Amino acid sequence: MKLDNDFTLELTEQWRFAPRLKPAEWAERNLSFGYCKSPPVDKFDLKLTPYIREPIDNFALPGALQMTLCFPPQSGKTLVWMAGRLWEIANDPAPGIIVYSNDDMAKDMSTDRMIPLLKSVKQVKQELRAPFAIRKDCYQLAESMTWFTGSGSAASLASRSARTVIADETDKWMPLAKEADPLDLLRHRTKTYSKTKRVIVVCTPTVKTGVVWQEYLKGSMAEWYMPCLECGHFQRPNTQFLQWERDATGDVIENSIHFLCEKCGYKHDEKEKPKMNLQGKWIHKYPKRKAFHRSYHLTALASPFVSWPEIARAKQAASIESSPEKQQDFDNAILAIPFSPRRHITSGLMSTLNKHKTDYEVVDIRDELRGMFMAVDTQDNGFYWTIRAVLANGDKHLINHGFADSFKALTIQWNVEYYGKLPMLGIIDQGGHRTKEVSDWVSAMKHWWKYRGESRISIRQRLSRNDPLLILAKPALYKSDLLYYIYSAIDRTMPGYWYIPANVDDDYCRQMIAISPDMTKRDGHEYEKWISHSKQDHYFDCEKMWLVLYEYAQEQLKHNEWWRPDVRVKVEPKQHVVRKPSVPMFDEYQ
Ligand SMILES: [Zn+2]
Repeated sequence: MKLDNDFTLELTEQWRFAPRLKPAEWAERNLSFGYCKSPPVDKFDLKLTPYIREPIDNFALPGALQMTLCFPPQSGKTLVWMAGRLWEIANDPAPGIIVYSNDDMAKDMSTDRMIPLLKSVKQVKQELRAPFAIRKDCYQLAESMTWFTGSGSAASLASRSARTVIADETDKWMPLAKEADPLDLLRHRTKTYSKTKRVIVVCTPTVKTGVVWQEYLKGSMAEWYMPCLECGHFQRPNTQFLQWERDATGDVIENSIHFLCEKCGYKHDEKEKPKMNLQGKWIHKYPKRKAFHRSYHLTALASPFVSWPEIARAKQAASIESSPEKQQDFDNAILAIPFSPRRHITSGLMSTLNKHKTDYEVVDIRDELRGMFMAVDTQDNGFYWTIRAVLANGDKHLINHGFADSFKALTIQWNVEYYGKLPMLGIIDQGGHRTKEVSDWVSAMKHWWKYRGESRISIRQRLSRNDPLLILAKPALYKSDLLYYIYSAIDRTMPGYWYIPANVDDDYCRQMIAISPDMTKRDGHEYEKWISHSKQDHYFDCEKMWLVLYEYAQEQLKHNEWWRPDVRVKVEPKQHVVRKPSVPMFDEYQ
């Protein structure tokens, strides 16, 4: 039976020379950070972050799969796809695309993090020496191409086919004007691999409507559980169980911080975190969905890279300072959940509004102007008005504001030049019993529209069917958009930022913060439910109408009617601000 023997031999050889290690174990044995300039840890050791083992192993699952990681910053989430992709390159090669918010970030990630790790992989050492095997944005290794690209590079996305697509930092991606959602576009790249494709989405959540949170909800929704070292009870590492004492000045007393077992009351010291983590496990809320989409959520409490004192201080800052900014920080970076505005945040409103101040003496926006619009709120005795410009990158700058006591005075303001240019379009509210006057004035002017809040229309805004100069718009949507700009979109590095001049007067500021949460109502802290607590809120109405007009202009103005027709604004406010943070998920986690 010679044949049989040969057959047996062949089988043993296969097992001996191609051991099928699970990807996480393979990564531990093969990857090292020796080639990194500043390694995150000494060696690739999952003892520190045992929660990334299961996600890494998912790369070896048969069949098509999506995986979504909704993790806080500094938790090892990038290592998941890096280890997974490197395992694929070495053991299960097929083309892959890795997408960041822009090309530069993608290249940096490749150069600083991925290539050094790749150099430690024995299986590809030989191949790496081939000329052109490694470029910053592309690795060509035998059967597997790996591309790094920015989410805005739609053309390059559309031209490639890949089995594995990895979408990192998705909440920072720019929406593509008039085109499909970039994540959908990316999914489309896997068409030829419908039975084996892997779609990986990785990000720290920002708001409820952000990509990563929405994807997380569609998946199996796994949570990381850690056992009590005293009674063995498994619980989620939520901050409500992190407790501490405060000193006379209110500061956190570090050595009083402990994690409480909800069952037996045992107080865990942070030194016990690694042990709790090692015995931790993922529990999927919807196990049936594991077959097609595994999604994971982790709080910073389990991360070895974020200390409990840091978390205690962040939580204290979020609750004491009452500023939406601190609260968003805590929700996103510690709880890794979308931001929800809290009840009782009024005291922080002014300080957050101040975050939008910029000094026009220092920042010259002249060359970046793309358009400028005027918005007017009609009163019995005159008109509050604002003029706001939009820049090539979508940033919005308040240029001037004031009160005009007559149509004549208003017309004079409309004809004032800023940076050598006149405002392009204007919008004015119909003005209650002054409707006829306003209508006559608008008809006599060019480039003006009237505004009326109309919540019953089926879309965000449209022209009235009876009056071509009247824009109907859903007021609650634009109100929450504006509140989102002021209280949530507070990262200046993101395009589309909403600015006010550093020397803006107190009257403007007071009127802007006159809209605040409605404590008397359930969910009154959600932006749509905020109400005016003062009759003096006219500038808020102007700014709201400005958003209506800007959106109208984006649809109606021809390309060459903008001042910088060479620039198309990538972040369209419509897509940017429909995000409306709200509360239900928060209660569950807090
Ligand atoms: Zn216990």
